[in-house]
Amino acid sequence: MTMERELILVRYGEIFLKGQNRPYFMRALVRNIRRAVRDEGADVWLHDGRIFVAAFKDIDACMTKVSRVFGVHSVCPALEMEKDDFAAICDQAVEMTRGLSGTFKVAARRSDKRYPLDSPRINAEVGGCILERNPSLRVDLHKPEHVVNVEIRDKAYLYVRVVPAVGGMPSGTGGKAALLLSGGIDSPVAGWMLAKRGVELVAVHYHSFPYTSDRAKEKVLELARIVGSYTGGMKVYVVPFTHLQMEIHEKCPEDYTTLIMRRYMMRIAELIARRERAQALITGESVGQVASQTMEALGVTDSVVGLPVFRPVIGFDKSEIMDVARRIGTLETSELPYEDCCTVFTPRHPATKPRIERAEEGEALLDSEALIQECLDGVEIVQI
Ligand code: ATP
Ligand code: MG
Repeated sequence: MTMERELILVRYGEIFLKGQNRPYFMRALVRNIRRAVRDEGADVWLHDGRIFVAAFKDIDACMTKVSRVFGVHSVCPALEMEKDDFAAICDQAVEMTRGLSGTFKVAARRSDKRYPLDSPRINAEVGGCILERNPSLRVDLHKPEHVVNVEIRDKAYLYVRVVPAVGGMPSGTGGKAALLLSGGIDSPVAGWMLAKRGVELVAVHYHSFPYTSDRAKEKVLELARIVGSYTGGMKVYVVPFTHLQMEIHEKCPEDYTTLIMRRYMMRIAELIARRERAQALITGESVGQVASQTMEALGVTDSVVGLPVFRPVIGFDKSEIMDVARRIGTLETSELPYEDCCTVFTPRHPATKPRIERAEEGEALLDSEALIQECLDGVEIVQI
């Protein structure tokens, strides 16, 4: 009688390349997977350079959660067996290929070098059994449609199905950045893209109550929740922006109001970033999308920030950004029709070739320090 159990074998991608730092990335990855399957009651462990997940309530739910963890390249539903009964391994391999047709090969790996059969023998034996008992399969060693993996370690592990996962690098291994998060389509995608590279996010949202409603704020928190579901949550700073916006609207030249507002967004985000020990800002800007995103305008906006500003969708068309938003699950929420603070006081003819000096002249009409302080004093922090 052999002892068998279902488990998930996790394959990781780029961490392979990390040389000496690999253990650090592996630990982060295991920690993040553990957090992702916390509610599934699953065990997660690292053994022999492989990550295993077992003892879950529901394998599909668990697979889905693991496949959304950054750093996971693919997930494979596998069967763990005693390795001594080789006939049982062959039977199981046949069982796993039942219903498959086309071409296959067996890929054996043996980390237990005392095992009586070496990898080529395992390939030949298991392959032979499958050929004999599944007439709709034939062997193709170069471009097989199905690969029957047989790994001989402390136990034997068999898997055929390889489900692609999100990829990227483990959250928390790529530094930290403050994401300027609006309720739009672009900024959640921008944040997600850097989070995928291991960057921890803290979100900053400017809220213009009562010009923007509580529902608009809820929508942004929901977007933070969706992006945060890939990373294990995030902190959101909700900044009251109404007074500052009104002041800009009343006192600054109309064609510069949006630009000046964006400069204040950047300044405040930088202060929050520094408080949070974040090393960069992220926005969802894309060249030419609106007047404040011309090359000149981006330059005028950047000139007030002392941190790098990352704009991962800078060269994307709207439709390309939407494709990502759809894939990561933010699009539907982003498309809910609530007002954003940017749309509240939109000038009729915004400057498309602005100059820094003109923006500075406009800002000189404001009590900048007090207005920024007022925003910071009114901050509401939501932990998601
Ligand atoms: P998105 O760009 O996310 O679709 P949007 O189109 O409403 O939203 P834009 O006017 O294009 O926003 O603003 C460009 C960028 O400025 C956004 O991607 C976002 O990073 C930042 N931003 C805009 N509005 C806000 C806000 N209310 N709070 C925080 N950041 C904002
Ligand atoms: Mg936009």
